[in-house]
Amino acid sequence: MDLLAVEGVYKSFQGFMALSGVSLRVEAGSFHALVGPNGAGKTTLFNVITGRLAPDRGRVRFRGQEITGWPTHRVARLGVAISFQRAQPFASMEVLEAVVLARLGYGGATWNLVRPLWAYGGARAKAEAVLAKVGLEGYARRRVSELPLGDLKRLDVAMALVAEPRLLLLDEPLAGLSRAERRRMVEFMGELLRREGVTLLFTEHDTDAVLTLADRITVLHQGRVLAEGTPEEIRASKEVRAAFLGGER
Ligand code: ADP
Repeated sequence: MDLLAVEGVYKSFQGFMALSGVSLRVEAGSFHALVGPNGAGKTTLFNVITGRLAPDRGRVRFRGQEITGWPTHRVARLGVAISFQRAQPFASMEVLEAVVLARLGYGGATWNLVRPLWAYGGARAKAEAVLAKVGLEGYARRRVSELPLGDLKRLDVAMALVAEPRLLLLDEPLAGLSRAERRRMVEFMGELLRREGVTLLFTEHDTDAVLTLADRITVLHQGRVLAEGTPEEIRASKEVRAAFLGGER
């Protein structure tokens, strides 16, 4: 069954068409990459899927249920999480606190109210378990602002995972990471899929990584789907090579 189905989505900004009839199906248990040059519409599509933006036309379904235009917290509760720069607003907090907050689903201002309670709830235990899963268990008491980029990205993922999503949207999970950090993130993504049963939809500029990791690839170009298929199919298409692989491969 399709976990996620985006059907004929249009989105314009002041007359500029960022998405022009985009359709996309993400199968449960797949590792699905969304690629395309800057400005292709990837972020806009993520925002439409997670409810940050309402599309002008078209539908989004999750597990068969139409969620078009739902507010983000309702979409999140249904099992869709996004890892994009989640930890940033929590820079002054401790790592564990940030993950607890993500679990509780509260915004920053509410923190002082829930702080006396959080240690007693299951949220803390859940947050600790997720930190261990992403390999940040030793950083629980560090300030978020002290984390190097690779660890910050893992914290972003932890903050998304703590909600126990079925679908996780990852925005360029490998960008800016060192070789060792990339290897770790790739392994971790594989574990999420195999062990946790979390379906992944991710954007990535590194074409080698995409062709190796993904089992389905959707290529966006100027707000339209240029191609969709397995890495082999994508590699075989001349048109796609020109747009997505820069024509070199
Ligand atoms: P990508 O993530 O693939 O780089 P985006 O979805 O960020 O692409 O952007 C697609 C196009 O829509 C770009 O040309 C961008 O300038 C435009 N765009 C995105 N968000 C807005 C916005 N809030 N207002 C105006 N234009 C936007």
